[in-house]
Amino acid sequence: MKHFAFDGRLVVVGFGSIGQGVMPLILRHIAIDPARITIITADERGHDVANEYGLRFINQALTRADYQDRLSALLGPGDFLLNLSVDVSSIALVELCRQRGALYLDTCIEPWAGGYTDPSLSPSLRSNYALRESMLGLRAGAGANDPTALITHGANPGLVSHFVKRALLDVAAACGLDATRPADRAGWADLARRAGVKVIHIAERDTQIADRPKQRGEFVNTWSIDGFVGEGCQPAELGWGSHEKALPPDGRRHDFGCDSAIYLMRPGASQRVRTWTPQEGPFHGFLITHSESISIADFLTVRDNGAVVYRPTCHYAYHPCDDAITSLHELAGKTWQQQPVQRLMMNEITAGIDELGVLLAGHGKGAYWYGSQLSVGEARSLAPHNNATSLQVTAAVLSGMIWAMENPNRGIVEPDEVDFERILDLCRPYLGPVVGAFTDWTPLDGREALFPEDIDRDDPWQFRNIRVL
Ligand code: NAD
Repeated sequence: MKHFAFDGRLVVVGFGSIGQGVMPLILRHIAIDPARITIITADERGHDVANEYGLRFINQALTRADYQDRLSALLGPGDFLLNLSVDVSSIALVELCRQRGALYLDTCIEPWAGGYTDPSLSPSLRSNYALRESMLGLRAGAGANDPTALITHGANPGLVSHFVKRALLDVAAACGLDATRPADRAGWADLARRAGVKVIHIAERDTQIADRPKQRGEFVNTWSIDGFVGEGCQPAELGWGSHEKALPPDGRRHDFGCDSAIYLMRPGASQRVRTWTPQEGPFHGFLITHSESISIADFLTVRDNGAVVYRPTCHYAYHPCDDAITSLHELAGKTWQQQPVQRLMMNEITAGIDELGVLLAGHGKGAYWYGSQLSVGEARSLAPHNNATSLQVTAAVLSGMIWAMENPNRGIVEPDEVDFERILDLCRPYLGPVVGAFTDWTPLDGREALFPEDIDRDDPWQFRNIRVL
């Protein structure tokens, strides 16, 4: 089904796993002439896919010096810039689209190359919190009818913000509360407070495996290796809940912005946390920084006369595919110097699922996970050029593009501010089984038996209990 007839031009920056994976969905669900699509990328990957669909393919990296001239020639009012690159500043592209009157979508707030690990910047300024504050700072100069720029709308960040709302309504109903859909941000925050949600994990377990094991000196993953290593080397970050009794010893607050999040003085790829998904059960995930940890915590904050009276702790808990775990182990051992070889797994994947959802915990019913359990086999049967991980992202990109086309004058928008039911309806055909499951699991389970630990028995949902020391 075509959801929108788009007669503008479409420029796609970056054509890696997500760019290639989203193209069949765009051409299937948006009526657009392929001759109006231009890809600008920094390597030859995907050239064959561009040829398959009859798209213009330019292999010449954008730089700080030339992006304005090169993109201005391709973008005007009613056109669309889809940013699926690494190493190109999202903030620069949003500003340019605003000047040109073009719609915009990305899946991550990227800095220019090197921004994540720039030693001249403090950890606070290398954080996603700082990138988000800079992006939202652009709203200050906004006009009333600015073109829509939907930022961070992949799977996570992106789709998971919509899962949170669906899950909140389910938890509220199970707790016997009024589960009518709230009308605004304050209503959602109040619902989370009344339901007693203390913690929100973006809990993901990727079990995809290939017929080729990881080799020494090789980083293997199911999506961008540069993207994953970049964010994994940023400080671990988490939305900081009002129920937390003490800041971690290595936890720091930022001295600017909305104050919804803290960071730890260590890279996220070295910090594990305890979490749970329905198929995997309990596991350790990495506390990788992500924009949704900060935006969801901010969105669900309740204030009274300016003072925070409620906020959930919110963070990512990511178990990448097993080959990525051994790749990370090797990377950490080399003090975060990247391996010489990268392999983004696609056709060689033989089995596995990406179980990606949100775990809302600490309320009267324990914990509740809601999300997608997409297998690689089902992903392949639904769309070419995808694995299970990429299809969860590309379905969300497609749905965000359609929403932006349907709502073209909203200015800069975060996923939390978008109609969640419209997005879930659009994504649903591509997510495989979408399930909700309650559990009585807590991060204290089984901790006393062999090595009694210094844990907080009164409140299982303290970050101190969740963090793996
Ligand atoms: P990838 O590494 O497979 O591809 C990145 C692409 O960017 C490549 O085509 C590369 O040539 C291009 N590129 C690099 N430098 C460029 C430059 N200077 N100018 C133009 N193009 C340039 O990455 P991917 O897996 O496709 O991910 C793309 C982006 O999406 C990353 O920012 C990643 O973090 C993000 N992402 C978000 C989610 C989510 O759920 N929100 C999930 C996966 C990926």
